[in-house]
Amino acid sequence: MKDYNYFTTLLVQNVGSKTRAIAPPITSSAAFGYENAQEAEGIFMGEINNPLYARMGNPTTAKLESIVAKMEGGLGAIATASGMGALAMVMTAFLNAKDEVLCIGGFFGGTYTLVNETMRRFGIESSFCEVDDFSHIERKLQEGIKLVVVESVGNPSLRLPNLPKIIALCHHYETLLIVDNTVTPLTIRPLEMGADIVIHSTTKAMSGHSAALGGMAVFRAVKEKDKLHHKKYKDLHPILNKMGKKAMIPICKKRAMRDMGMSANAFGSFLTMLGLETLALRIERVNRSVPIIARALEKNLPTPIKVSHPSLANHYDHERYCAAYDKGCGPILTLDCGSKAAAFKLLNHLKLVTQTANIGDNRTLALHMASTIYRDFDQETQKFLGVSDGLIRISVGLEDPEMIIKDFLEAAEA
Ligand code: PLP
Repeated sequence: MKDYNYFTTLLVQNVGSKTRAIAPPITSSAAFGYENAQEAEGIFMGEINNPLYARMGNPTTAKLESIVAKMEGGLGAIATASGMGALAMVMTAFLNAKDEVLCIGGFFGGTYTLVNETMRRFGIESSFCEVDDFSHIERKLQEGIKLVVVESVGNPSLRLPNLPKIIALCHHYETLLIVDNTVTPLTIRPLEMGADIVIHSTTKAMSGHSAALGGMAVFRAVKEKDKLHHKKYKDLHPILNKMGKKAMIPICKKRAMRDMGMSANAFGSFLTMLGLETLALRIERVNRSVPIIARALEKNLPTPIKVSHPSLANHYDHERYCAAYDKGCGPILTLDCGSKAAAFKLLNHLKLVTQTANIGDNRTLALHMASTIYRDFDQETQKFLGVSDGLIRISVGLEDPEMIIKDFLEAAEA
């Protein structure tokens, strides 16, 4: 059974080597010598599996990629310089000007601006819809769009998508589905459920230590009768015909990474692997702590402060949480303090918690959303993304949950 015991065993055994150096070697080389001209040609043709040049891959990064691919149940993976790098790589690799991407639910601010501003400047259209707006979703799929993106848990909206239904619709309309699984590594398994590509910001829980910025795209195998053979993906067909089940990897490398260089570096990949060794232990603990903290804060914080987390009975997606997110939905919970001034006051009285723009850290973090990550967004967009004036996002860490609760209660009292 793929439980936390399974993943801890898989991860420690795959990160460490049995002979010679136990810790993964850091190959800090940008270029790699070839035996002879024939080997150089073979490597560039993709027929010899040796390093080409670090923009296209690095041995330390390759080890990280193979571990995360196994962990997510994928055929292969590509590590990138950041989570945004992974999203940008996949979207630019699969889309062309005049194509359209559908974004379902609330989104991290960077993903929203990537799609809504940057990709639009290059002629890629987009639409956003509420997480359960299946009439919009189905209409867009019927129109023949090429790509759908959804976060496994909206950050910071905390809306939970109906993944099985979205996956079934994307299969029916032969449309690629990307799931950003940053918030729920191990607890949600999008590739096993039928998604096509999984994205992670490895900066978050996978590392846990805030020492390495990184991203990852994990791919399923391309099948003989695959949705990618649909005529709307015809410009990818030469790569599909040549590369078969591994085709999504050269599609991303040759249509994005080679030319835009969002490649991971060896030291970052090494640090990410150190984090991976303990990922399952940390995920289990955080997912145990979050509902305890949410309940205690809901019960004990003064009334104007509203606590939001799907484990709470009054949350919009509580039923879905109980049915489909039974292992937890990651480290985030939010407090709505009613106003920016009240939120600032509470934040500035916290003694234990760190104020920063990150999630999934080993330490508990908090941040006022509207004045930071979402400050450039108009009010309507903030509302759509679940960001109100007084909203604080909390990312629960590994500390004693009682200490975390105490810090928030004392800050609120002060
Ligand atoms: N996806 C989600 C859900 C995130 O929370 C973040 C970052 O906060 C990203 C993607 C982007 O990752 P990175 O900061 O590594 O570029």
